Amino acid sequence: MIQRIADQVRAGERLDRDAALELYRHAPTSQLGQLADAVRARKHPDGIVTYIIDRNVNYTNVCVAKCNFCAFYRPVGSADGYVLGFDELFRKIDETIAVGGVQLLLQGGHNPDLPLSWYEDLFRAVKERYPTFKLHALSPPEVIHLSRLSQLPVPAIIDRLIAAGLDSIPGGGAEILVDRVRKALHCYGKATADEWLDVMRRAHRAGLRTTATMMYGTVETDEERLEHLLRLRALQDETGGFTAFITWSFQPSNTELGGTEATGIDYLRTLALARIVLDNFDNLQASWVTQGGKVGQLSLAFGANDMGSVMIEENVVRAAGAAYCMDELEIVRNVEDAGFVPKRRNMHYEILGDPIFRERDVPRMLELATARDDGDYSIPAELRLYPARSRAGKILQQGSSAASQDSE
Ligand code: SF4
Repeated sequence: MIQRIADQVRAGERLDRDAALELYRHAPTSQLGQLADAVRARKHPDGIVTYIIDRNVNYTNVCVAKCNFCAFYRPVGSADGYVLGFDELFRKIDETIAVGGVQLLLQGGHNPDLPLSWYEDLFRAVKERYPTFKLHALSPPEVIHLSRLSQLPVPAIIDRLIAAGLDSIPGGGAEILVDRVRKALHCYGKATADEWLDVMRRAHRAGLRTTATMMYGTVETDEERLEHLLRLRALQDETGGFTAFITWSFQPSNTELGGTEATGIDYLRTLALARIVLDNFDNLQASWVTQGGKVGQLSLAFGANDMGSVMIEENVVRAAGAAYCMDELEIVRNVEDAGFVPKRRNMHYEILGDPIFRERDVPRMLELATARDDGDYSIPAELRLYPARSRAGKILQQGSSAASQDSE
C-alpha cells in the first residue's frame, strides 16, 4: 500500500485524503523525507535555497482575542502593554535597510485603540519615506478585527490598506483551519476557518500574493492536520495566490494551554507531508525559528526550499520560550553545508542576488532585537490623534494629552 502511494508521489500524481493519511501515519520517516525531497527537487531542480532579509516587528502586544496558546499578548489596560510609535518603526526600518533588508513583516495584537486610520497613516508614512521598501503586513485575523472595528466589509479594508501601501498579507493566525480545533484554542472568535480562508481569497482577488501557515501540535488529530492542508490546497487551486507555506510547532511555555512541544521528527514528518500534499505550492519554508538551526537545516532534506527570514527581531515565539538567532552568514553556512546554493529573495520569491555580506560589509547580528527594550512603556505622541475605544485607552489618552498640554 505505502509503496503504491510512494509511486504515485514519484509520478507527480496528486494524493487524495486517504492516501495522504496512510502515508503520513505509516511511511518510515526516511521514506517520507525522500519523497518530499523528490517533490522539492522537481519544483526546484537548480538546487537553490532562498531566504529574505526582513524584520519581524510586532507593533502592539495589546490584544482582545486571548488565544490560549499565545504567550505574547497583554490584555487591554495592562501595565506592560505597548504600541510602537511611527518613529520607532522608522528606526527599525533604517536598521533593516542597513543590513540589506527589503521588507517589514508587521503583525500585532487586536488592539481596540488602533483604528483603521492609524494603519493607513503608518503605511503611507512608510511608503513616503521608503518608496521601494515592502510591507508584508496584517494577518487575516487582524484584517477581520479591523473590519469589525470599522464596520466595513473585509474587501473594503483590504482595498484601503492596499491604497495606503500594503504589499502582501502574511499567513499568520491560521493555526489549524478546522473549527473544532479553533474553538478549543479560543481562536474561533478571532476568525473561523472559513473567515481566514475568505480573507486570503479576497486578498488574492485584489491582486496581493500571500503566504499560508499552520501551527500544529496542540489539540488537533492527524486528520485535522491533513484537513488544514487540503483546505489550503483547494484555495490555491482556486486563486493561485499563495507564494509559500510555513509550518511550526506550538510553543507551550508561558501559555494558558501549556503541554509539551512536538518533537523534531514530528516537525520533519509534518513538513514532508505538507510538501507532498501541497502540490500546487512552489515554496516551503524551514521553520528554524522554532526548531533551531540544526533541524532547520535538516528541513532542506524534508521538502523545504527556503530558509525564511534572517532574524533581526523576534517577539512572539520568544515569549513562549524559543529564541533561536541566525544572521545571514549563519543561514548561508547552513544552506551551503547542506549542499544547496543560497540566494537572497524578495516577498514574491524572485531572486535578488547572492549573500549580501559577500558584496559589502554588513554587521553581524548575533542577538535578536525586541520590539521594545524591557521597561519601556512610553506612549507614542501620535496616538493622541486616534480616538481610543477602550475605557483604559481613553483614560490613558486623557492623561497623555493633559501631560502634553502641560509641556506645551
Ligand atoms: S495569537 Fe495573536 S490574536 Fe491570539 S492572543 Fe496572541 S496576539 Fe492575540
